[in-house]
Amino acid sequence: MAPLTAITTLSPSRLARLILCPAYIAAPFDEENRLKFQGLHAIAVLRVIARHIRQGFRLQSLEKRGNGFRVDLEFLGADGRLRVSEVKSARELSEVHRIQAALYCQDGNYDEVVLSNRAMDVLLPREYIEEVRRQAEATKQLLKNNPEQAAISFRPNACVCRICANYSCPFLPEKMDQGRSPPGK
Ligand code: SF4
Repeated sequence: MAPLTAITTLSPSRLARLILCPAYIAAPFDEENRLKFQGLHAIAVLRVIARHIRQGFRLQSLEKRGNGFRVDLEFLGADGRLRVSEVKSARELSEVHRIQAALYCQDGNYDEVVLSNRAMDVLLPREYIEEVRRQAEATKQLLKNNPEQAAISFRPNACVCRICANYSCPFLPEKMDQGRSPPGK
């Protein structure tokens, strides 16, 4: 059973994946990939800042740290609205990214939350953020009160399975590859 403190202090990144699949186990991230990811993320951050400045926003904060998490960018609009942006290096923005952005921004008093990459900013509706908050609570309760059930609650999802290391799961991509018939058979 996971310690209670580990559940209450889950990072938004980890929690987003557990919301999609409670049995998810994070696969290790190697150093080469980490450096590549950091470089792509820095480029995306610069693009997001430039795009917002062109739209009349002013950069308010960069990588502001919160309670166990970090908010990428805060912008102040010409009309006084406070916008927070969660920046992703990925070309395609996925459901796990949207959930993660909603979780990062729950504690702030923001007028707008956007999920951004190099090319676009996607505004997250308030109702969506509320729904993610509800799902986050339900997931934490499951992990805390019924960890055995959580560990076998396999919910295959294209964005999470490929970075999972739960070797007891029949949906783990490596296992599914092993179970496939060779071509021509
Ligand atoms: S491989 Fe299995 S445990 Fe991992 S995320 Fe996919 S369904 Fe969940």
